[in-house]
Formats: sequence, C-alpha cells, structure tokens
Amino acid sequence: MARPSLLHPAALAAMLSLLGVLALGCAAAALVPYRPVEVEGTTPPGPPYTLPPPRQGLRLHVFNTAMNRMSSLLVGSQRPWRPAPAFVLEHPTQGLVLFDAGISPEVAREGERALPVPLQWLIESRGREERLLTAQLHEAGLRVEDVRQVLVSHLHEDHVGELGAFQQARIIGGPGTAGFAAEHGWTERWHEESFEGARPFPPFDASVDLFGDGSVVLLAGGGHTREDLLAWVSLPSGPVLLAGDAVVHRDWLESQDVQRIASKPQRAADVRNQVRALLSARPDVVLLAGHDLRGIPMDREDLRVHHPEWLTPEAWPVSP
Ligand SMILES: [Zn+2]
Ligand SMILES: [Zn+2]
Repeated sequence: MARPSLLHPAALAAMLSLLGVLALGCAAAALVPYRPVEVEGTTPPGPPYTLPPPRQGLRLHVFNTAMNRMSSLLVGSQRPWRPAPAFVLEHPTQGLVLFDAGISPEVAREGERALPVPLQWLIESRGREERLLTAQLHEAGLRVEDVRQVLVSHLHEDHVGELGAFQQARIIGGPGTAGFAAEHGWTERWHEESFEGARPFPPFDASVDLFGDGSVVLLAGGGHTREDLLAWVSLPSGPVLLAGDAVVHRDWLESQDVQRIASKPQRAADVRNQVRALLSARPDVVLLAGHDLRGIPMDREDLRVHHPEWLTPEAWPVSP
C-alpha cells in the first residue's frame, strides 16, 4: 500500500493556506494594538542658516481636495479628519508649478472603496468630483495646460490622484520613482531626482535648486517613503516649506513618535529634526505639512488659500 506523500498537491495546498492564515494572524498581531515608534534621530547642523532671499513675482495657491482619516492601527488614537491639499505656484519665468495632485476622480466618487486592499482598511477618504484639483484650478482661472512642472512629494495615492491630467508638464519625482513613471507611460517627461551628490541646504542634507535662482529648492526626505521630496519656496512675503508627508501634520513634530506610517523610521526622525531646527531658528518660515493647514496665514497677497471653508470636516459630509 502506497504511503500518502506529504507533497501531495492537496496536502500542499492545505499547508500553504494554513501558512497564509498564520501570516495574516502574525500581521494582525503586529498591528494591534498601536504602539508608538519613538526614534530620536540625528542632530542636524545648528544655525545660522543661509537661506535664499525672497523672490518677487511668486504666488502660491493652496487647494484642499479631500478629507482623510487614518486608521488607529497606523497612528494611534489621535486621528482627526485631515485635509489632502495640492499647491500651485505662479512663477514669473517658469509658468505654473504644481506640488502634488490631490486625490483621484475614483476616490472622489467612491471614497476609500476605490482604493486597493489593504489600503482601504487603513484610510477613510471623503472627496467630491467638483472639488478635485483640476475642477478647482478651472474655477480659479488657472489652466491645466499652463502647468509646466509637477513636483511629486511621494507616490501615495492622495498626492498623485490627478497626475494624469497634466499632460504637458515635466514631472519630477524623488528617488526610485522611475518605475512608477514607466508603468504610466510617463518616462519621457519624468525626471527622477536622486539627490546623489546634491548640496546640503542646512539644516537639510541634500538639495537641488530647481531653476537655479533660489525660487524653488527641492529637499531630500526619504523617511515617510523612500521617494519623499520637500520644496522650499521663496515667496515675496516670506518663505514656505512644502513638506509633503515628510511632515504629515504639525503635531508629529512635537513628539518622538514617527508612527507606523514611516517606511524608514530612522530617516523620518532625521528629517523631522531638520524641520524642527529650521522652524526653531526661523519662525517666519510657513510650514505647509502634508495633511495639516492649521496656522496658514489667510491675509497674504502671495499665499492664497482657495475655499478656506473646505478645511473643516463638516464641509465634507458623507454623500447620501
Ligand atoms: Zn504619504
Ligand atoms: Zn499623504
């Protein structure tokens, strides 16, 4: 009588499915409950910092495209609804420069149900088609086809949702983004900024002066995701730091917890310390975090917040 083989296909399938269940169980155990990820990080160079002078003729537009809320598995119990902004810079010689592209039309219509699993279990998203970035640009009299450069803070879906709408633009993404560009057929007009050999911009450790005039300086992140980039903008009435999710929200700067959303916790803490050092030496710098517009000045000519009434969760009720 033949002995049953351990490698019989049915036995193997059963074993693999058991392993799958075990892996899921381990993943769930690792996620629940939330535990802070406290990282001290390295200390950046101290002040004084030499920063580019204000540049006349620049004007930054701020648009909120959605409200998102993260799962407590990723960020703990403090998880308010937060905006998902996109920014457009009017540049006197370079046309319109976009920083991030907000949520996608699919997410605007269906919320997080339009996101793949497991992402749709980890984030809630409320949007509206008439509040997508392109709709708001149109309303503001800014033409999509006049956007010549798009800076992508990183590849999370709430930052690249309408990237495909900017077909005339050169797109700049951070380290490791060439594959994403190829997947979408955007290789020819995509520039992957690797920051290799890039100059320090103390307190930051790597920078690229985008137009060579100090008006827009790209800064290397790399902690939230590998491809993070931040942008320094030398507005006439004072500088702005567009942080993307290198600083997800302002409270994040006040604790050592880099949270479970940082893909490289050590680097996230290093960049956090750099931003802290900058803001402590130069409190005049306006920090525009990835998902937090609290404290943004509303009275500046060179910094225009469109629909400030859309910055509260009450403005984004669930559609019936
Ligand atoms: Zn992100
Ligand atoms: Zn984000």
